[in-house]
Amino acid sequence: MKIFVSVDMEGVSGLTDPEEMRAGGRGYERGCELMTGDANAAIRGAFGAGATSVVVTDSHSSGKNLRADLIDERCTLIRGPYKPMRMGEGLDATFDAAIYIGYHARAGTPDGVLNHTWMGREIRDLYLNGEIAGEIRLMAAYAGSLGVPVALVAGDEAACAEARDVLGDVETVAVKKGCDRYAAELIPPARAQQLIYEGTRRALENLADARPYTVTAPYTLGVDWASTSIARSCAYIPGVTLAGPRMTEFTTGDYEEIVGLLGVWSSIAGEVGCTGLHYG
Ligand SMILES: [Zn+2]
Repeated sequence: MKIFVSVDMEGVSGLTDPEEMRAGGRGYERGCELMTGDANAAIRGAFGAGATSVVVTDSHSSGKNLRADLIDERCTLIRGPYKPMRMGEGLDATFDAAIYIGYHARAGTPDGVLNHTWMGREIRDLYLNGEIAGEIRLMAAYAGSLGVPVALVAGDEAACAEARDVLGDVETVAVKKGCDRYAAELIPPARAQQLIYEGTRRALENLADARPYTVTAPYTLGVDWASTSIARSCAYIPGVTLAGPRMTEFTTGDYEEIVGLLGVWSSIAGEVGCTGLHYG
């Protein structure tokens, strides 16, 4: 059994402050250790359920957050910025399941801890075939396009609710409950990580029940940007249309192009918006 684990940071146990997730910020080094702890809990659960191979991808911002020296030695770790498939880098049709750890709710979700979609400020909303989507739907659809089901989503309560809304009765592990965007009631990491371990084991032991989440092709990605200048710059890419003053759209039959193009759009938005790199 081959398992893919994508790890974001906003939904990691013990963390609530964007400072803790920004390289150089106060508490960042500790944040990386906690992120690695949540990842290790899932890796341990996967091997406990009979996995023979686990590939982990660092899905937050620069992709250099997970501690290579502390991560479970049985896995391999994909790290670094500008990975072509970003949060899905390393996933292919040979995997039996995908697990999303440290995930968060989409932009505008009430009580979603650090709720945002892909970028903190530049993206107001993202649409997949006309339906509003956060990172959970976007990346579940990527896995689904490869025939891979999402077995478990861990994050705050709002992320777990979003995962169930999109994926049905998927296994979820809530590690904190948002009071607002920047505050939460936490389950201490030691206990949260035990829950992630148990949830991962349970999900993979019942994997026969999991179905890939599929969106019908052709796929249309729509992004409602925070600024007209970002939309206009992104729309100069051949094949991309300016669907409104702040809205770009792109349609393709190949889902890999959806994820790849969103990566390119976010690089442009980071430059034009002058707020630096952030995806995940
Ligand atoms: Zn992130």
